[in-house]
Amino acid sequence: MLPPYRIKVVEPIPFLSAEDRRQALEEAGYNPFNLRADQITIDLLSDSGTGATSAAQEAAAALGDESYAGARSWFRFRNEVHDLTGYPHILPVHQGRAGERVLFTSLLKPGQICISNTHFDTTGANVKLAGAKPLDLPDPRAADLDSQEPFKGNIDLDALERTLGGPEGHRVGLVLMTITNNGLGAQPVSMANLEAVRELCRRHRVPFFLDAARFAENAWLVGQREPAYRGWTPRQIATRAFELADGCVVSLKKDGLSAIGGFIGLRDDDLHAGCEANLIATEGFSTYGGLAGHDLERLAQGLREVVDPAYLRARAASTARLARMINEAGVETVQPAGIHALYLNAGSLLPHLAPHEFPGHSLGCQLYLDGGIRCAELGSLYLGGMDAKHRLLTPAPFELVRLAIPRRVYTDTHFEYVAAVLAEIAKEPERVSGYRIVSAPPLLRHFKVRLAPTTTAVRNPADEPGA
Ligand SMILES: *Cc1c(COP(=O)(O)O)cnc(C)c1O
Repeated sequence: MLPPYRIKVVEPIPFLSAEDRRQALEEAGYNPFNLRADQITIDLLSDSGTGATSAAQEAAAALGDESYAGARSWFRFRNEVHDLTGYPHILPVHQGRAGERVLFTSLLKPGQICISNTHFDTTGANVKLAGAKPLDLPDPRAADLDSQEPFKGNIDLDALERTLGGPEGHRVGLVLMTITNNGLGAQPVSMANLEAVRELCRRHRVPFFLDAARFAENAWLVGQREPAYRGWTPRQIATRAFELADGCVVSLKKDGLSAIGGFIGLRDDDLHAGCEANLIATEGFSTYGGLAGHDLERLAQGLREVVDPAYLRARAASTARLARMINEAGVETVQPAGIHALYLNAGSLLPHLAPHEFPGHSLGCQLYLDGGIRCAELGSLYLGGMDAKHRLLTPAPFELVRLAIPRRVYTDTHFEYVAAVLAEIAKEPERVSGYRIVSAPPLLRHFKVRLAPTTTAVRNPADEPGA
């Protein structure tokens, strides 16, 4: 599928020898978060803030108005977000989690419950910091990684209704729908599901918000998979989704097509007043919220570009093509392919590794050792329950590895390389060694954990693909 752009500015990517990669990973404590960017050939760690900007965005950035209050750039940004979402109140923030903190400390009371299809990691952490409890109620069909169900990102409506009408119902302070569902394989949420959530929230008088970091990608998948929305543009679908909710919190580091940014959208005047006071005290005045004028300009333009059907079609096709190449190489991925990331099933590829040897992390390390590819584990290392000595007590339900796809950055040739490195691993999976934890922080373990291989099986550098 032809992308609707050509490349104007490029950045060189590093190629290290196999021995340099081995040494780099060892020095990083076998944790890809500790690698330096100049040690990485293909970086699929995150799609957040990693996209390429357009010539039109950079031209707009040159017009950035850095006035402290009431800057031109603020009004351009505000009008763009208002046109897209319809919310009367817009508060800018420097990134999504700042919006979460500002919103939750104003909206949630200690002891309350926040229900989601799946909380993003910082979202769950900010719910807890506000003294409330995050509760995930994902659609049970998401547990079948291979099924082709179109909307495995949905919330479980029966469970939501039971919880709202049950003994804990009065404690529910917020229902927050994450679109798309990053925690569950980048799967989209259907409009029918959002409409039903809205009805339940109305009936039980609970606020309904969107965590809409990937609102455009969700809209694209709705247009492709939900018959009632065939023929709608991605922008129309996104606007309809925002219309269903009472407000939203959005990281613009994804579908804002920019390195930084976010916003809170609100209908309620009192909630807006509370959030605005908090924003001014902690983020910045309410016409910049921690962002520079040039950031606001890039974002306003990015929000127009991201709903272009030609862009979304090409991006979805590129991810789907990578999934096909990986599947043909004998590596399973969570089905059906989403847009912003692919989730490799390391558990099924590496049956010789037990959960306590972290198969997902092992596959991620091997991708770096063999091809200089960086990605993130979503398995027992990240999600498992451990004791104080880092012994795995409860494994994660699946041992996955997330290949996040930055926007407008890599070409299909880069993805052919990724698939080729994976294909070599899949030919001889038993040579992938497991890992054990050497040290780990008590909180947000995956970012700072250090590990060591459990065996010394190391591939012969001479016959690896990047050599
Ligand atoms: C990235 C993300 C956040 C947090 O946003 P930051 O900009 O990284 O602070 C929250 N929710 C979802 C779904 C995200 O993808």
